Amino acid sequence: MVTEEEWEEAQKRQLRLRYLSCVAGIVILGGVSLPAMALGAAITNGGIVRFLVSAGLLIGFVAPSMWVMIFVANKQQVDADTKVRQLNRDLSDAIVSADREAAQRRVQARRQEFESRVANALDMADGESEVIEVIERSLASVVPDSPTELLLADNSHAHLVRMASVSPTGEPPACEVDSPDRCPAARRAQVQRFSDSDDLDACPKLRNRVEGRLSALCVPVSIMGRVVGLIHATGPPHEQIAEDSVEDLETLAKLAGARIGLLRVMAETQLQAATDSLTGLFNRRTFEGKVSALRREMDGMAVAMVDLDHFKILNDTHGHETGDRALVLFARLLKESFRSEDLCCRHGGEEFAIAFPACIAVQARNALNAFRSRLSAAISVAGLPSFTVSAGIVDAKMHEDLPAALARADSALYQAKFGGRNQVVVHDASGQTIPLAEDPLGLDVPSWSLAALADMRRKLR
Ligand code: GH3
Ligand code: MG
Ligand code: MG
Repeated sequence: MVTEEEWEEAQKRQLRLRYLSCVAGIVILGGVSLPAMALGAAITNGGIVRFLVSAGLLIGFVAPSMWVMIFVANKQQVDADTKVRQLNRDLSDAIVSADREAAQRRVQARRQEFESRVANALDMADGESEVIEVIERSLASVVPDSPTELLLADNSHAHLVRMASVSPTGEPPACEVDSPDRCPAARRAQVQRFSDSDDLDACPKLRNRVEGRLSALCVPVSIMGRVVGLIHATGPPHEQIAEDSVEDLETLAKLAGARIGLLRVMAETQLQAATDSLTGLFNRRTFEGKVSALRREMDGMAVAMVDLDHFKILNDTHGHETGDRALVLFARLLKESFRSEDLCCRHGGEEFAIAFPACIAVQARNALNAFRSRLSAAISVAGLPSFTVSAGIVDAKMHEDLPAALARADSALYQAKFGGRNQVVVHDASGQTIPLAEDPLGLDVPSWSLAALADMRRKLR
């Protein structure tokens, strides 16, 4: 590497040498011409010979110093030429590295733009379905010619589920790996490239695909540091996806993992805040919110208060842990036994509240009596100590708030307890018991509520 100072110094040296050569030439010529002529005159007899000898002597005197000056000038010229060549090389290297840096900056800028656009799109996406849509559109823009899919583990981490797929042929790659633990890319937590599914070291899951021989790329997707899935793209054998696209897929995997992870944590937190930790049923606050929202849409609804009988004795006799198992079994059966639009809640301790939208109290009584039969069978299957349940049901009045309706259901429950437990009591609007015989047999769900049911199913999901 030649510095500017070195180059200027070389130039100055050359200039100095030129002046010095000039001065030295004059001085040497002046200094030696007289002695040469005198010597020529002394050793010759005059005439033309004297001039020839003097000229020869002059050449003899001047030539060595001229040769020295030419030698020095040449040396300096060689030095200068070397420096010029070095400068030239340095300049070429600088241009090449500037070009390389500019290209790198362009790639980086493009990658950053892609990253910020995807991050922006994911940020605007509302819920997992919109996030998946953004991922599909991003996949289609990064690898438009390759069938590509996003496989993610479910909550149990045991199964990989295809969350998104794009394909120019309409057929996704369909990797048959069914859990993150069985996927080499997920296990190694590294991008895996396979140039030919027939290669000895190709992923075994690429063999015997309907697409035949293929190349593949697998980019792991992590959520909070744990590999939970992968982006899987395929192509013709020996036609690998371009390195730029691989980097974009890595960026997409990183952003998608972070976003889906955040959504899942939020959903988990919301679920925990909305449900009772032992039974998984809605807690009282969530129940009240959901029932109020439903009643803004439709007013007809039966509400029940349900209480386990002599549960304290069960706890005292068999222990609190057995009591907990009984509560869990009871809650699971509640969830399984009623319609998907019915809302069940652990109201506190061994008390439960149920809202039966688009249903009248006497129908709810039938459902609860059927539930009681199921309960006793389930208790014996589970090997738990026998216990029974009492319930009180009312029809929520028009514009009556939920606590008031539940208070009336609680009065009916109190009467069921008072009447010997292990029974369901229905109260009418004035608090009178509706006997079982008065059940309007075969009564259908009121016609006003049928249309609302479909709408409600959608809202409850
Ligand atoms: P009744 O038939 O009159 O309702 O009698 P009961 O014994 O069920 O009612 P009581 O109010 O006297 O007792 C309720 C019992 O429920 C007492 C309490 O230990 C038990 N319980 C409440 N919550 C839990 C729980 O989370 N786990 C367990 N194992 N027991 C609970
Ligand atoms: Mg009780
Ligand atoms: Mg109680």
